[in-house]
This record gives sequence, structure tokens and C-alpha cells, in this order.
Amino acid sequence: MKAVQFSAHGDRDVIEYGEFPEPEPAADEVVVDVKAGALNHLDVWTRRGLPGVELELPHVPGSDAAGVVETVGDDVTRFEPGDRVAVSAGVSCGECEFCRAGEESQCVSFRILGEHLPGVHAERAAVPADNLVPVPDDVDWSVAGSASLVFQTAWRMLQTRADIEAGESVLVLGASGGVGHAAVQIADHAGCEVFATASTEAKLRHAEECGADHVIDYETDDFASEIAALTGKRGVDVVVDHVGEATYPDSLASLAKGGRLVTCGATTGPNPDAGLNRIFWNQLSVLGSTMATPGEVDDVLELVWDGTFEPRIRETLPMSEAARAHELIENREGFGKVVVIPDSEF
Ligand code: ZN
Repeated sequence: MKAVQFSAHGDRDVIEYGEFPEPEPAADEVVVDVKAGALNHLDVWTRRGLPGVELELPHVPGSDAAGVVETVGDDVTRFEPGDRVAVSAGVSCGECEFCRAGEESQCVSFRILGEHLPGVHAERAAVPADNLVPVPDDVDWSVAGSASLVFQTAWRMLQTRADIEAGESVLVLGASGGVGHAAVQIADHAGCEVFATASTEAKLRHAEECGADHVIDYETDDFASEIAALTGKRGVDVVVDHVGEATYPDSLASLAKGGRLVTCGATTGPNPDAGLNRIFWNQLSVLGSTMATPGEVDDVLELVWDGTFEPRIRETLPMSEAARAHELIENREGFGKVVVIPDSEF
């Protein structure tokens, strides 16, 4: 079978689409005939190489995919061949104190398919049955294959970690990215007043379509000043920040007294000035968040399957053009998700 893969870490030219051994399901695994997958920024980090993550090479990347169950391992009872499924990429041990407490994304050995483990951007992939979610017949493969990682991440950030309530104000940075455009939709659906930043007129219009009440072009305007102006110097209750060093000081400055900054990533670097003076004086909370629990995944994907939330597709490419998919992500071209489809299905 064919798979996206790389045999060394590096620039986009390490990515190939070629022959790879056919997956065999372990007892607790399911082999999925992949119909569509999607890129996440994580795929870029994994390709470049992450400190402390030693991958067996060649590595098949990809954390998001959906398809049809082809074969099931001996111990799998929840799925059978022909079932439509989507991958949820977080792998937890099920035994540590955090897993036993129902906080699987805090598992002491938490790993992510495609990042620490073989991924799913291939014609077929063996995935633990616990990492599959049923997909209704009327949901498009591109939706089923692109929603899971970003919607579960944004859902946990806002609903669980920041614990948003109707009537609160939420600023979403980088609203054109996968997590950003999901966060705008989730905050809007929760009845919040949504502020969103993006970098072009077209992206700002897309953010409005996703539910943003106010949009700020961060290339031309200083977003902390804009938030001060738009809120009468009060600030917002919650900032969703996955940008990191480049935005963190302005994110803190954008918060109202008692506000919460919730972060799931640090694309521009992990070590901003901590701003402790602002944190204690304004009684702010800085909250970390990673992926989601299986219960949270079920909750948010139910709302994707019924159309409440919608992953926006910026481009659909055959898997042989995975390098171009990485380029779209790295250059922040377009709005929403980049979908990849096995060339045999394209
Ligand atoms: Zn665990």
C-alpha cells in the first residue's frame, strides 16, 4: 500500500508518498481503509523533529483521518468491517491515576498518533479501537477526517479548562488556523462575545462567518490596543492563544481582571516574558490544555456530525502532494483545514 512517509527529519523535501508495509491489526486494533485525512501544525513539528521524541523511521505522519473499517483485531468487539469511523489521535494508558480519574489527556504516558506513534496518512492504517469514533452515513469524509484534533482541542480549552459561560467575552488568536476556527465556533455557540484575529481581509471575513462578532487584523493593528478600544479598556474574559512568544504579552494585556489565558501550543516559541506582575495584580489564570478526554471528543464530534460545527476546508490535495499541504500550513495560506486523500481515492 502507499503511505506518506519520511526517512529523515528536515524540510518539506523529506516527505515522500510511496510503498509502505501493509498494516496488520494487533488484538486491540482496527485497520481503517482511509478515505480522507487532514494536516495539523503538529505534522510540521513532527517532520522537522521534536526534542525528546525518537521516531522509528521511516515514519508515517498524520493525526487526523476517517475511513471504513477493513479488518478488526481478535479482541475488538465495538467495530466490524464496513463501519464508518474517524480517528481521535490521543493514546492513553488506561491505568495511571489520571486515566483512572477520567483525565486521559493528562495520562503520564500520553502519546499522539502521528507524533509519537505511526500516523494515519496512508491508504490503510492500524489504529487502536479505543481511538475510533463512529461516523454517521451522511457526514462527508473530508469533514469526518479533519474535525477531530482541532475541535477536541478547542473544546477542552474553552469548555473544560477556561470553563466559558454565556455572556463572557473570548478573544481567539489566529482564527484562520484549525484550532482557531474551531474555537471561534465553539465560543459563539456557547453564547460568548467573540473577538478574533487573523491576517488578511479574506480570513477576517471567514472568521466572521464562523461566528466572530469583532475581527482584528493583527498585521495592521496591535490587537491588545484594539481589544482595549473595543471593550472600553475592560479587556476580555478569556484569550485562546496557541501562538506563544509573539503574542503572550499582548494576550495577558488583553485580559480583564480575573481573566483566563488558555494555551494549547506555542508556534512562535515557548518562553515569553512571564509577566507575573500582571498575572498577580490582575488575578489572571494561565491554563494549559492538550487534546481532550474520550468523553469530550464524543461531545464535540456529535456537534460536528449534526452540523452545529463545521471544519472549513481550505484545500483538498492527493497524499502525493503532502509537501504542498505542509507548505500551506507553514505559510499560513488560507483558512481552516488542509485535507489529504489517498491518490487511489482522489
Ligand atoms: Zn494513563
